[in-house]
Amino acid sequence: MRWIATGITDRGLRREANEDAYRIREDAGLFLVADGMGGHAAGEVASTMAAAIVESETVRALEAGTDARPCEILRDAVEQAHRAILDHAARDPATTGMGTTLTATLLRAAQRTIHIAHVGDSRAYRLRDHDLARLTTDHTWVQQQVDDGRLTEAEARAHPLSSVLTRAVGGPIDALDVDLVDTDLADEDLLLLCTDGLSGTVDDADLRAILDRPLPLETLAAQLVEAANLRGGPDNITAVLIRVTA
Ligand code: CA
Repeated sequence: MRWIATGITDRGLRREANEDAYRIREDAGLFLVADGMGGHAAGEVASTMAAAIVESETVRALEAGTDARPCEILRDAVEQAHRAILDHAARDPATTGMGTTLTATLLRAAQRTIHIAHVGDSRAYRLRDHDLARLTTDHTWVQQQVDDGRLTEAEARAHPLSSVLTRAVGGPIDALDVDLVDTDLADEDLLLLCTDGLSGTVDDADLRAILDRPLPLETLAAQLVEAANLRGGPDNITAVLIRVTA
């Protein structure tokens, strides 16, 4: 089992800066997206810090030959990023309140598995046999309303509070609750990690239609960004695509 990956990030049409970050480490099987928030460019500080720390801590643990489970490696790395962002904000009042989403995946070829650590409203999707499955749950107030049957998916997407997070890395809580997902990986799976500038703008049916096209990853990534910008590009758009091959 092998994989190839590509990443793309775009400011969108309305925002003055891009506060998203992503990392691609094909060698380690590590891929992540982060969507920062906070005024005066603090969001960019938070997402960049989280991406760098989760990458370096995960790779360090893998190279050290730890016997921790892949999800535990990711969770420990996310918790380190959380503490580092809180420490940074405590030292620099201009960044108080900054935080970031973090959706990180670790692929294991020998075990044919994918492991995900997730906080916030970025998403991981898997296209298999033309079906698109969401592998993560949004940590948002509107998702809670959907789960409780008070809003539909379409109402949640259009809701003025759609971007209000219930959890964030660096968020105003000391103990961070990181969602962990372990699932299988099959030849020909196509994985998408993205920020809400994509998934909050382009619905799952339209994402599926694009991802199912038999085109190179770079072309698919460009078409995802184009689709979000055609719908107004209200937010920064970031996508990481990973195609698994035999
Ligand atoms: Ca965003």
